[in-house]
Amino acid sequence: MLPGIVGSLQANEALKMIAGYGRPLLGRLLTFDAQSTRFAEVNVRRDPQCPTCGESSELRSRDDAEGRRSSAA
Ligand SMILES: [Zn+2]
Repeated sequence: MLPGIVGSLQANEALKMIAGYGRPLLGRLLTFDAQSTRFAEVNVRRDPQCPTCGESSELRSRDDAEGRRSSAA
């Protein structure tokens, strides 16, 4: 049951990002407690030292993350 609930939420987030619609879960962590059926939201700040999204990361767009870098760089 839990994978279905979380998977549906993840699919919904992906659709929002693709469609550019709604308010995606950027900078926020959503937790789900299945025992008590409660959701909670935690604000998360970007870590400047993060190798993926930090200041030294070379990933600046979805194309970068998917290996489709432009040759102009
Ligand atoms: Zn990061």
